[in-house]
Amino acid sequence: MSVIPANLGGVPVLLLKEGSQRTTGKDALRNNLSAAIAIAEAVKPTLGPRGRDKMLVDSLGDITVTNDGATILKEMDVQNPAAKLMVQASRTVDDEVGDGTTSAVVLAGALLEQASNLIEKDIHPTLIASGFQHAAEIADKVIDSISKQADDDLILQAALTSIGNKVEGDAKRKLAKIAVDSVSQIKEERDGKIIIDQDLIQITKKQGMGLLDTELVYGVVLDKEVVHPAMPKVIRDAKIAIIDASLEIEKTQIDAEIRIADPSQMKAYLDEEENMLKEMVDKIHASGANVVICQKGIDDVAQHFLAKLNILAVRRAKRSDMEKLAKATGGNIVTSLEDLSPSDLGHAELVEERKIGDDKMVFVEGCANPKAVSILLRGGLERAVDEAERVLKDALSVVADLYRSKAIVPGGGAAEAEIAKTLRAEAAKIGGREQLVVEAFADAIEAIPRTLAENAGLDSVDVITELRAVHEKPDGVNMGVSMDGTEPVDMFKLGVVEPALVKRQVIRAATEAASVIVRIDDVIMSARSKAPSTPKGGPSEGSND
Ligand code: ADP
Ligand code: MG
Repeated sequence: MSVIPANLGGVPVLLLKEGSQRTTGKDALRNNLSAAIAIAEAVKPTLGPRGRDKMLVDSLGDITVTNDGATILKEMDVQNPAAKLMVQASRTVDDEVGDGTTSAVVLAGALLEQASNLIEKDIHPTLIASGFQHAAEIADKVIDSISKQADDDLILQAALTSIGNKVEGDAKRKLAKIAVDSVSQIKEERDGKIIIDQDLIQITKKQGMGLLDTELVYGVVLDKEVVHPAMPKVIRDAKIAIIDASLEIEKTQIDAEIRIADPSQMKAYLDEEENMLKEMVDKIHASGANVVICQKGIDDVAQHFLAKLNILAVRRAKRSDMEKLAKATGGNIVTSLEDLSPSDLGHAELVEERKIGDDKMVFVEGCANPKAVSILLRGGLERAVDEAERVLKDALSVVADLYRSKAIVPGGGAAEAEIAKTLRAEAAKIGGREQLVVEAFADAIEAIPRTLAENAGLDSVDVITELRAVHEKPDGVNMGVSMDGTEPVDMFKLGVVEPALVKRQVIRAATEAASVIVRIDDVIMSARSKAPSTPKGGPSEGSND
């Protein structure tokens, strides 16, 4: 323990554990800024349709190839506390809106570069933070004023924009369409509000075939096989018992009761067990079920009886799949066979075991207006399937965002360019030191179009100059960075559009991260505790906050 004598009537107060590191003032700030900016630099090259992939190798040698900012940061094992705040910003964006994770980090990094310049000009961090906040509020209003109402076509365009070039050609269109179809299928309206639970869209990945073979199943795909070879593999007009109870006899129950003295007793015991299992199966049969999906086990003898009745059964289904099954087929999960009634059965046009790749899977499909759907994602390489899943999840989030709030804005840096223009105009009215901060925010938000241009191999100075000029014109609002040249293009005409929710969340999260980081002037890192810490009741550690 290091003892830092605080002036509390001469009583020494323990402040920091031995090995703790402390940096204060400008040093702390400078360290934090450079660490956070380094994070932004690391993800910058992946931004936009011409962004490049990164290959990440973890300590176990597992490889991830991705273009997704949040994934990169997750795998990077960031230690610096300021850098961690950047990672946090991208996670927040991921949780809230599901897309825009790279943009948030790039923007936060650009804000911190600007902050660093402002500090050189002796502008106080508190003023920087409040000026950034003010600028973010102005940006929010700009987003309102440039938003359009999304129709079905624009929602599809937004899904395509989100996929970018992470998937190409026909497969890209297919994934975008699947994203739109699945979200629109599971969305529900309650009290005039659109409710979308993305967990009700099951994504099952199977290596093999190509991305184009990905299919949307109006039902559930169970990664299980039919439990007994004598059972049917196809049931049409399926009536499905969804059972969360074991179709087995708990051995311990019986062992406790029965003492077997001679062979005839043994036979009676076995007969009794068989009878109990037969009763269970009879109850299922009596309900009218021709398919059983069971969350627990199914005894061999019960399997045999089910097979004789031409009932298709699956055992040990996942709990999450059980819930989706109920949502998709309109059935109820039954926890006791006593309670199983015909009205609990779910319905599907078809239940079928199919061979997918090397595995057998059971498809429950053709459900009438299902409130849960499944996407069977196919692809050649395992890593390609993983990346396709990330891309698909982003697209699903974008579509969900747009069903929740139909406001849509132009992408390709157009919204950012318009925000920068407005900020500069507003800054002039503010005057004083805050004017400098708001102008700095304007410069920072241009990092999005600038990075898009750089990643496309364009001259970013030319691109930004052109972009600023065209946004001064009355009809320049939707003009953004073209991947094919310095001449700006209309992003709505190009079909490059994004949910206003995503833009808002990106700006909010980046501003927050930058404001927090810029205000920190004291970093205390306690030593990693190796040995057991001071026992409870020992000398307590003081804190100075
Ligand atoms: P993020 O993780 O921030 O979503 P992306 O790599 O998905 O990062 O890039 C998103 C950015 O790329 C957005 O600013 C979007 O408008 C832009 N973008 C996407 N497609 C195009 C395109 N065809 N032309 C120009 N910009 C595009
Ligand atoms: Mg994206």
